[in-house]
Amino acid sequence: MIIHFKSSATPELIHDFSLKHQGIFFQENDRPIVVTSSKLKVLPSDIENSVDEYFVMDSDIQLASKNYQNGKRSIDLKNATIGGKSNNTMVIGGPCSIESWDQINIVADKLKVLGLKTLRAGCFKPRTSPYTFQGLGEEGLKMLVKIRESHGFNIITEVKDSTHVDLVIEYADIIQIGAKAMYDQSILRKCGATNKPVLLKRGFGSTLQEFVQAAEFILSGGNENVILCERGIRTFESQTRFTLDLCGVVFLKEHTNLPVVVDPSHALGYRYGIGDLARASVALGVDGLLIETHPNPETAKSDAAQQLNLQEFESMFNSLAAVATAVGKNIV
Ligand code: PEP
Ligand code: MN
Repeated sequence: MIIHFKSSATPELIHDFSLKHQGIFFQENDRPIVVTSSKLKVLPSDIENSVDEYFVMDSDIQLASKNYQNGKRSIDLKNATIGGKSNNTMVIGGPCSIESWDQINIVADKLKVLGLKTLRAGCFKPRTSPYTFQGLGEEGLKMLVKIRESHGFNIITEVKDSTHVDLVIEYADIIQIGAKAMYDQSILRKCGATNKPVLLKRGFGSTLQEFVQAAEFILSGGNENVILCERGIRTFESQTRFTLDLCGVVFLKEHTNLPVVVDPSHALGYRYGIGDLARASVALGVDGLLIETHPNPETAKSDAAQQLNLQEFESMFNSLAAVATAVGKNIV
């Protein structure tokens, strides 16, 4: 149950109620809100007079649910909006990892010419093997800040564990929570305590319910700026790296109020079909795409097989506008 208390409700009453029902309290524009388990179906009579409005929910997809807030939440970035009343599909491009100053500059120059608003690059890489490149860490974050200043991008970069979550929150414009970190509650709670936008990737072994419940940790911390990202799930299929769950994407569109971004790069794992999947996703009306591109993918220190070179990225990008127009979307 989601309960909007009156602003006159005393902190003691809200505190006692939250304690009794394991509710989570946060403020939204000065409005005190408590979210309890969705199993609570009847408003307790002792708080009746202190409540403005309450919502009985069918599952623990609560703050993210269309049954709570029907319109899509709006994420306002410094040079573009995702979700809300906008019809924007934001293309987020950049290398898997920032590797050097030259590498990120070459990519940034190209994406700026194409008109992209948001640049991605990982500094803390959640690698499957400890013997591979692990990312440039804070040095990479500092380079991204310079690129933000010189090129005017929003910068998105990932958190892989709680040791550097504060650093990423400090430096990034959008915090990406990696697929392997989706269940990390210390990361989720820290991201709930900021109001910077968070792009939450779906864990590749998680159900849609688990995915959206992870988003609930952030939303119930008081951060309304959550973007969901489908990046492929693990199935029995081994010809592709993961399986892009477009059924999941339409479920999220239908049942949640959060903007949805698709990442075809990590789903497919090979560069050959990224354009096809990007166009299919735009045709579905998604709010954004996240696509890896590198000046020389063959030499990339991570995810080499799936990154588009800059020419491939450009032709993929140029092919999106016609599809976007056909479905009433606008590529930004
Ligand atoms: C990435 O975006 O480079 C990445 C590692 O993604 P994921 O967390 O989806 O594997
Ligand atoms: Mn990657």
